Amino acid sequence: MPTPTPLPTAKDSLLFTPGPLTTSLAVKQAMLHDAGSWHWEFNAKVKAIREKLLAVAGVLRADGYETVLLQGSGTFGVEAVFLTGIPPEGKVAVLSNGAYGERMVLMLQHARIPHVVLRTDEDVPSDPAALDALLASDPAITHIAAVHCETTTGILNPIRELGAVTRRHGRIYIVDAMSSFGAYPIDFQECGIDYLISSANKCIEGVPGFSFVICRRAVLLATEGWARSLSMNLLDQLKGFEKNGQFRYTPPTHALLAFEQALAELDLEGGPRGRAARYHSNHETLVTAMRRIGLRPYLDPAHQSHIITSFRYPEHPSYNWTDFYRRVAEKGFLLYPGKISKADTFRIGNIGRLFPADMRAVVYAIREALVEMRVPVETTP
Ligand SMILES: *Cc1c(COP(=O)(O)O)cnc(C)c1O
Repeated sequence: MPTPTPLPTAKDSLLFTPGPLTTSLAVKQAMLHDAGSWHWEFNAKVKAIREKLLAVAGVLRADGYETVLLQGSGTFGVEAVFLTGIPPEGKVAVLSNGAYGERMVLMLQHARIPHVVLRTDEDVPSDPAALDALLASDPAITHIAAVHCETTTGILNPIRELGAVTRRHGRIYIVDAMSSFGAYPIDFQECGIDYLISSANKCIEGVPGFSFVICRRAVLLATEGWARSLSMNLLDQLKGFEKNGQFRYTPPTHALLAFEQALAELDLEGGPRGRAARYHSNHETLVTAMRRIGLRPYLDPAHQSHIITSFRYPEHPSYNWTDFYRRVAEKGFLLYPGKISKADTFRIGNIGRLFPADMRAVVYAIREALVEMRVPVETTP
């Protein structure tokens, strides 16, 4: 039998993961209601959430932007863009330097959509010059898909430069900003973004249950008749919202109530700029404290995001990840395994309801765990 969930009076472990994340008490409390999915009160909330997302994105409906919510995790949102937005004769160029870029490739394989992949190493940002050359040589490519923060490593890709190349060649630009939206101000116009995808449980700090797509309305309206899926058809989903204010199928009511509160808290923090400042200081605090005990980040700081950080394993025979993870978890801190193919790493996220004091606390717990395992720790001041 699995151990039962602790009583509500017990303190939850802090999540140092890329999502789901530690959320505020008020976000959790917002879910203590039963909402009628067809009721006008709930529909008004859905409408307000869609408006608010455009505001967080810094775009206006008057400038031709639109937002569509879709049931399911972030992956569903990315896949829905491909299943809705690629014409029968379309072809996608994917820029990949990690697991989420590779997941887009898998989606295209499953949908039997022609595609080409431009890969860089996991520690090297996607390359706008390589994209430029590819687009110049292959006029069949209609869409470009890039990942902003590749959560596999925590690397930040140059979505503005990639967007400039895409626009110069007159193609459509899809950005997976799952783990960055809300935590980095993103200039839609400057980046030339046609579709941006993110989800409820990342940097907006809501709970899992839906993804959202912020897009150019004209680009989405032009996809009529192309959809390769019924439930993941974003154009029909938009028409549903515009017809009666409702999701076409059962909405994640509780996750939406939580999200409404999470958006209010993002506002209180000063929007994406304010949130970026906290995440940035979380990240700085983390890396400084980790370096003090001799643990080194995997990425060059020039490409490192303030979302999640990969650290190299300590080089010592008595270190092993499973034992290390369990010991740190028992102290109340949940770390995240590495996903990098070429280096042994683990990851520490600093997004969610976490503050610099939590970052110092997790490093203290890591140090204790290593001492228990008899892995030498440095104590450079
Ligand atoms: C989290 C994440 C996703 C989606 O993951 P889900 O588990 O489906 O929510 C996609 N892309 C990136 C970059 C992510 O960080």
